[in-house]
Amino acid sequence: MIDDGSLTLLWDIDVRRLSDIYDTRDTFLTLYLPVGSSSDARRNDTFIEKRLRTMRKVLGKEMYEEVRSNIERVRDLIGPDPIEGEKGRIIFSSLSMDLLERYRVPVSIDRKLVLDTSPYLLPLAILRDDILPYGVVMVDSRSSKLVLVRSGTCESIDSSSIDLMNKHKMGGMSQRRFQRLREGAIGNFLKGVTDDMESFTSQDRLRGIIIAGPGEAKKQLFDMLPPHLKDMVISVMDWDMDMPCGEIIESGEEISKAHEMEWGKELVDELRSDILRGESAAFGPADVRKALEKGKVRDLLILKGTKVPGWLCESCQNLKKGKSPPSKCPRCGSPLTQVDFIEELYELAQRTGAHIDFIDSSPFMESIGGIGAILRY
Ligand SMILES: [Zn+2]
Repeated sequence: MIDDGSLTLLWDIDVRRLSDIYDTRDTFLTLYLPVGSSSDARRNDTFIEKRLRTMRKVLGKEMYEEVRSNIERVRDLIGPDPIEGEKGRIIFSSLSMDLLERYRVPVSIDRKLVLDTSPYLLPLAILRDDILPYGVVMVDSRSSKLVLVRSGTCESIDSSSIDLMNKHKMGGMSQRRFQRLREGAIGNFLKGVTDDMESFTSQDRLRGIIIAGPGEAKKQLFDMLPPHLKDMVISVMDWDMDMPCGEIIESGEEISKAHEMEWGKELVDELRSDILRGESAAFGPADVRKALEKGKVRDLLILKGTKVPGWLCESCQNLKKGKSPPSKCPRCGSPLTQVDFIEELYELAQRTGAHIDFIDSSPFMESIGGIGAILRY
């Protein structure tokens, strides 16, 4: 699938599907290229030529020819000028699988050319993690708005309002009765808002929700939320109902980043105490791989920047860390391919439905080799 010439938000790239793709050969090409500035095109060309020269030296003739024709095939997709807003280009290509996909993305990315047995997704995953969308629920006692904030845009998802009774329309009614009816109506209205939030949060993976509004209704709404929605609330803010998108993004970004760091810290603390108690945890590349293969991982924690070389047997999925692979798979005798071990663990986690969290910095994570897992049991 080649893009139709429009931008793709990182969040719309189907990483789950891509992580299910794997080839039996080491010739799956992934390209990450910056395209935002005028010098990028020339630099991308130089970069690719240089990588080709290196590969010519290290790959066998047959494999090098395959890689070269793969690159020739994608050249048309690398070249064209960026469209408006495009800062990066991601290309996946495999000749043997007849697969070719290009994404034009609105974020700048580091230049990378990777040959692997599957799409190389780690840089994309980290970029996506940084821009995880979050929801904003704006509410007062008579109206509500649900807004999805992602990639620097506000998308209005839902809105509702009630027509509260007017005192003078209710002629003859006692003040107390009027007040009771009014409170009942607001309660019902807010119950409706929690239902909207329920369907809103079930669709996308969200970093969290900010509840905001000018008066008391936001606190009332928060108190009414079922526990799993309450857990998603990052903050309750005193904002005007008509706060413009730009201001929502500015304040929301700050709040959600701070929350994300706090959340990462909590996960690392949980991992550490699980390890210390000797239960429900795995750490270091080899142990984490075992736990992932058994489908036991609830949360995979990856310290950003962690690099572990490894090798993989695609026929029996034997995955081991280590710089120099043996000449053939010790388990089944098939040829082996060199891989990025962390990338392979990330793909395993995707396939087994584990939650993946990237940690910005943590001396503890460094001390356990940059990778750890909190287990389901
Ligand atoms: Zn094998």
